[in-house]
Amino acid sequence: MIIINHIQELQHHLNIAKSNGKTIGFVPTMGALHQGHIELVKKSISENNITVCSIFVNPTQFNDLSDLEKYPRTLENDSKLLAAVNCNIVFAPEIMEMYTQKELDLKIKNIEDKSWTDGKAVDFGILDKVMEGAQRPGHFNGVAQVVSKLFRIVQPNKAYFGQKDFQQLAIIRSMTKQLEMPIEIIACAIVREADGLAMSSRNVRLTEKERSIAPLIYKTLSAVKEKAHTLSVTELKSFAEKQIATEPLMQLEYFEIANAETLEIITELKSNTTAVACIALKLGNVRLIDNVVI
Ligand code: AMP
Repeated sequence: MIIINHIQELQHHLNIAKSNGKTIGFVPTMGALHQGHIELVKKSISENNITVCSIFVNPTQFNDLSDLEKYPRTLENDSKLLAAVNCNIVFAPEIMEMYTQKELDLKIKNIEDKSWTDGKAVDFGILDKVMEGAQRPGHFNGVAQVVSKLFRIVQPNKAYFGQKDFQQLAIIRSMTKQLEMPIEIIACAIVREADGLAMSSRNVRLTEKERSIAPLIYKTLSAVKEKAHTLSVTELKSFAEKQIATEPLMQLEYFEIANAETLEIITELKSNTTAVACIALKLGNVRLIDNVVI
């Protein structure tokens, strides 16, 4: 496994591989890797000749500066985990390798930078407006900005994303299509701890007490899935809200049931449409999200 910090060096390696007919799988991450990330990497390794995993804490997708500062950075351990599963290339650029000062200045001034669209009229419709989009202004623009940059640099055949970030996956699919990038987007199932908590780089920031409470999130989602046959959407929402309210350390941001394809918030479950129940909450100072398809 090689660790590369510079775009030019990465492209040099990839160009040689591509000219030898090798296929490239790509797993973008922000590091602090756990088994959820590693499953994406393993899937990529099984489907491609070369797997690139990027580790880059992207400043433009954070709308809370303290969240960006507190984001765990564990490159040495990440590299060990990736080497253990035979990942081929780790791409770990510095901020100035990925962004111009002008782009960073726009972020600091809170001005939405659409230069990543390359002049194309990219429109996410409601995908970047509901749920996470409503709670985190500018977040998905930052995600699309960095993923489009990474896609242009790596130009993989396939790219792997977790369903943990269900809405992000929809944004990436839409972006790739609208920018006409010839990259297959592969969705991977959520990897959970034994007690159901979705693995997340943020989990290490939970105190022992908060960690012991955290399984309530998946318990609630699982109960919603089970009750979906008998309760209305309004009743399911009220059930989930009450469940979370039983735990004073949890502050619910939203619980919504959406059409799994369009992400439209739905008020009625229909047998011919797949729905997804999505939740976001603060547990102490840590923001957690999760979802189940119902
Ligand atoms: P992040 O480093 O949090 O930006 O995540 C990088 C990728 O890993 C994204 O595609 C996430 O959806 C995915 N991911 C994060 N946590 C999990 C998990 N528990 N299960 C599956 N995929 C995950």
